[in-house]
Amino acid sequence: MKTAFSLLLLLFCAPALAAVNVFACEPEWAALAREIGGDKVKTFAATTAFQDPHHIEARPSLIARIRNADLLICSGSELEIGWLPLLLTQGGNDRIQPGSPGYLEASQYVIKLEVPRVVDRSLGDVHPGGNPHIQTDPRNIARVAAALGERLAALDPGNAALYRQKENEFQGRWQAAIARWQSQAARLKGVPLLEHHKGFTYLIAWLGMREVGDLEPKPGVPPTTEHLAELVEQMQRAPAKMIVYSSYDDPRAAEFLAKRTGIPAVMLPFTVGGSDRAKDLFGYFDDLVARLLAPLQ
Ligand SMILES: [Zn+2]
Repeated sequence: MKTAFSLLLLLFCAPALAAVNVFACEPEWAALAREIGGDKVKTFAATTAFQDPHHIEARPSLIARIRNADLLICSGSELEIGWLPLLLTQGGNDRIQPGSPGYLEASQYVIKLEVPRVVDRSLGDVHPGGNPHIQTDPRNIARVAAALGERLAALDPGNAALYRQKENEFQGRWQAAIARWQSQAARLKGVPLLEHHKGFTYLIAWLGMREVGDLEPKPGVPPTTEHLAELVEQMQRAPAKMIVYSSYDDPRAAEFLAKRTGIPAVMLPFTVGGSDRAKDLFGYFDDLVARLLAPLQ
């Protein structure tokens, strides 16, 4: 009797979903959804920090996940063009199709870098919407957090106040952390570095570092011996302070170059989960800053 009564109450009060199922294309957005949604969300990340998010197989297990999703959050700007459209078609879930409230494209909320004036595919794996790897600048995370808080509130109105409160709290802690990272990283301003793929463009721009070359001869094209030989020569003329590569890059090119030039190779977690310390978004940036500072000690 009592149970029946509470069930009735539940039906008549503002309906709150049992949990919002969040399908994140990348781990950083799953981590952000946990910060803002707490125990009101169930998150799933389609990729890990050790996978190249440009190239994922549209596995049946991912289709099953997308079928149950209430909210999809992805970097966008065509990062997932090789696999997400297929998942969306196969999943047949109307709630999360582009244009619906359950579809959130994170990169639409930030100012994008490297937007090409003309798209020329002969220049490699060029992203026509600009560089999609926005997660490496914490200021971008803050902008996406605001959008995500609003979206969760709209999808689950019964818990709207809670999402707004948690988003607010997160922004407070996040801004304090940004100030801390910026002061720790002040010495990195103007420091020249080589990177494997243009995966850290936003991080480099945020900290005012200077990218002097890529190990990939063209975006998305693996390093060639010819290109690496050119870089060795370039490093002899004007050495960089470090060679960075991501947790999913093949480290061999960076290690080869490090051996030939004496410039340290530094692995940077590409996102949450990419190193022991990068357990959540705070740990991710703590680790990025520490790893970039290490060669300067
Ligand atoms: Zn890319």
